[in-house]
Amino acid sequence: MEQNGEKVIEVKNVKKVYRMGRERILAVDDVSFEIYKGEFCCLLGTSGSGKSTLLNLMAGIEKLSTGQIIIKGKNIHKMSEKGLAKFRQRYLGFVFQSYNLINSMTALENVELPLVFKKVRPRSREKMAREMLTSVGLGKRMRHRPKEMSGGQQQRVGIARAFVAKPEIVFADEPTGNLDTRTTKEVMNIIKDIAKKNNQTIVMVTHDRSLAQYADKIIHILDGKIQEVEVVDREEICEVNAAEAAQQPEVKAVTVEEAISKLNQEQENIKEQVEIL
Ligand code: ADP
Ligand code: MG
Repeated sequence: MEQNGEKVIEVKNVKKVYRMGRERILAVDDVSFEIYKGEFCCLLGTSGSGKSTLLNLMAGIEKLSTGQIIIKGKNIHKMSEKGLAKFRQRYLGFVFQSYNLINSMTALENVELPLVFKKVRPRSREKMAREMLTSVGLGKRMRHRPKEMSGGQQQRVGIARAFVAKPEIVFADEPTGNLDTRTTKEVMNIIKDIAKKNNQTIVMVTHDRSLAQYADKIIHILDGKIQEVEVVDREEICEVNAAEAAQQPEVKAVTVEEAISKLNQEQENIKEQVEIL
């Protein structure tokens, strides 16, 4: 594959050291690579090899020890906290292994959430969320809450939420880690299809070699170091399930106040979640 497009992410000599008492853990050890616009990049390695740490550094969720991470020409670790939060809202989306949906909200409200924080007006917010849910095959599940959906359906809500604001880059950490083989294929095809259609860049962490078939570039990680960067000659292997016909139930859009009050009711993970979104 040609490597002469627009560089969207540059990782330069990045190190991350964790200190645990007297112990130093070198989780990411002098890593450098580049990712181009529209690439599907996979960080592949065994458990504990430093993949999540590296992804979190690239997303600005963790602070790096040394090195630089440049996204769209901006050194993200030089930004103020507010500046970084704005940057994330504008350019980045996230898919999590454990979905991280808000349990008290419906699928539609969950997908609207990033747009609430972006201050998109309720009417267009709802329209965008409905379209996104329909495109991941959940046109008939808009009013369901996470607990009323299967793992695969919840992750499709997670994907709809990550992509609804059309971010240029989507980071995904083991997005199919809790799913069975068949559902994994469905979810991977959905991610790949949406990303290709909109020329979005994907950075996905996995320990599963078989998922690397979806990638244009595979960065093999071992003990915090890059072992090899494999640029894949892509074959079109994806078949995306036809989206279910949209039958749209009546759902009231949430206001910012309602969203925040619902968030306040939730116990788990919320603070982290809101910070990332
Ligand atoms: P992977 O995602 O590849 O399984 P991680 O990036 O989670 O690996 O972890 C890489 C190494 O860094 C591991 O040895 C892990 O124990 C360590 N590590 C990760 N996060 C922390 C942390 N917050 N504090 C201390 N050590 C950590
Ligand atoms: Mg991990």
